[in-house]
Amino acid sequence: MEPVLSINGISKSYGQIKALKNLSLSVPKGSVFGILGPNGSGKTTMMSIILDILKADSGDYNWFGKPNLPEERKRIGSLLETPNFYHYLSAVDNLKITQAISGRGHAADIDEALEIVKLTERKKSKFSAYSLGMKQRLAIGAALLGNPEVLLLDEPTNGLDPVGIAEIRDLIKLLAKKGITIIIASHLLDEVEKICSHVAILKRGTLLTSGPVDEVLSNEDIVEIASANMEQLKDCVIQMGGYLSIKEDNQRLQIHYPIGTANMEAINSYCFNKGVTLQLLLSKKKSLETKFFELTND
Ligand code: ATP
Repeated sequence: MEPVLSINGISKSYGQIKALKNLSLSVPKGSVFGILGPNGSGKTTMMSIILDILKADSGDYNWFGKPNLPEERKRIGSLLETPNFYHYLSAVDNLKITQAISGRGHAADIDEALEIVKLTERKKSKFSAYSLGMKQRLAIGAALLGNPEVLLLDEPTNGLDPVGIAEIRDLIKLLAKKGITIIIASHLLDEVEKICSHVAILKRGTLLTSGPVDEVLSNEDIVEIASANMEQLKDCVIQMGGYLSIKEDNQRLQIHYPIGTANMEAINSYCFNKGVTLQLLLSKKKSLETKFFELTND
């Protein structure tokens, strides 16, 4: 799948603080892409750079395979912080103002946006009478004006109760179904696991790993190996046993082991003793617990 966004070696410092260190990643079209990391890991800095709110010190990025032209910017909706809605105005009037300021889309988009975020029935209520969850949904509705192809959300469930969180989760799933690529910054592993198809894990500005959620966060050990003779290698792995499944991909074997049982040294020496020299031996990912430990411990 072609990427909608490619980030190439972006670094950003605030004085002594290195907020992003040589960050590279690409976001596939149609994905729900979670940027997962604890507070201070650089998520907001990254989002601000790719929206051209902040300048990177080095590196670059491109949207839709093109340089970041103003026309491309219109294809991207974003919610970085709660917009300043007027408390005494209704949802409809607030969106009219948002639209007038941003110049995004047409008047008809307002009703459609309210429908998507399930606020049609309450569209005439004052903003001040809204629950926190409704306020957040209205903010997402504002980001949807102009029918963006990509939506960027920074911690969209922050401060919400479980019902509000579930509503946002359902909304994100609905938007993804409509084909919108969604990029979500979150510090909640659980949230990312539930709604994202892809994830990038950031820790103190460094990318730990990225890829499809089931690969990165699964509860299996995944080992990738390759050799000049792939058939022989596969026989070898089958003989050795202990695995859950084997996948062949790009001249590599991906072997899935039950959590904590992959033994790289044993695989290497077993193959060697059978006359198979490995050209590649890679631990693709660590367990969910290990990942969490890396994230939350210094
Ligand atoms: P949070 O979820 O808390 O917003 P985050 O992952 O989004 O965290 P950033 O807000 O991007 O992380 O911050 C990354 C680092 O840069 C942190 O150490 C933060 O203190 C620092 N930082 C962010 N903005 C500024 C600023 N304007 N001036 C100085 N330091 C900053």
